Amino acid sequence: MADIPKEAPEHCPGTQSESAGKASACAGCPNQSLCSSGATRQPDPGIALVKERLSSVQNKLLVLSGKGGVGKSTVTSLISRYLAASNLDKNVGILDIDICGPSQPRVLGALGEQIHQSGSGWSPVYIEDNLSLMSIGFLLGSPSDAVIWRGPKKNGMIRQFLSEVDWGSLDYLILDTPPGTSDEHLSATSYLKGTGITGAIIVTTPPQVALLDVRKEIDFCRKVNIPILGVVENMSVFVCPKCKNTAEIFPASTGGAETMSKELNVEFLGSIPLDPLLARCCDEGKNFLTEMPNSPTVSALNDICNRIIQKCEEEKENCPNNFA
Ligand code: SF4
Repeated sequence: MADIPKEAPEHCPGTQSESAGKASACAGCPNQSLCSSGATRQPDPGIALVKERLSSVQNKLLVLSGKGGVGKSTVTSLISRYLAASNLDKNVGILDIDICGPSQPRVLGALGEQIHQSGSGWSPVYIEDNLSLMSIGFLLGSPSDAVIWRGPKKNGMIRQFLSEVDWGSLDYLILDTPPGTSDEHLSATSYLKGTGITGAIIVTTPPQVALLDVRKEIDFCRKVNIPILGVVENMSVFVCPKCKNTAEIFPASTGGAETMSKELNVEFLGSIPLDPLLARCCDEGKNFLTEMPNSPTVSALNDICNRIIQKCEEEKENCPNNFA
């Protein structure tokens, strides 16, 4: 697909659609002559570049959430840290494609780090010897800078992230995506289709309002053929750090994520309790696993990560082409 150099109108039909350059929204668009020529419907060379770059990545996982505020980025960082810490021979990378709200640099204690470019691509920032991170947050001048980009520009950035980061050999590449199903998801899934996506982990909280949006996320995965590894329920209960008593902060009026998972025939990976010290660790960029090793959150994470590892193995058996 040829690059779209200028911003497209809000109701752009999609530069690869049959009506590209011909729809009513295209009238007056600066890209109209390029789109109507058919050049944008050619196979995107970025797909082959991404396939080549990620050929030494064993498992590519998407972390999704229907709503914002359910702790998706926190869960991404915990799962990544856990996978890296539980086996030092395994290499884990995090790609933060939440372009409008990148939070991994803060959560992983890498705010202010710089990206270096070498002949083999962008070097990710190393959080641990076997845990690396790439985020749009590293390319912004300040954490409070707003990113106001429309679809084509986001698409270009995701293509660069997927094709130009020099990850080396990875066992797990975990993509932290924005809430909902937006340009970032469509771009990532279309660029990854040549190399295969192992599966999606869907994060939610117990209330019905969050679960309704999770149903849309599950529907999205099914429509674009992404295997669903399972659902993680975050902030299931509050555990008092002193007395260890529990309380439901977000009541599961309809049975929570476990009931919904059964109903929709997807695996329920487990619940992560709300620990106020976790929020503090994330704000300060500290490693919760080593700061609070006895927290119920860590033991919940142990079960969830073991299940994720097992599900990845099952997907490998189901779909050997993903790992060619
Ligand atoms: S001309 Fe191309 S970029 Fe512009 S609105 Fe139409 S399809 Fe989208």
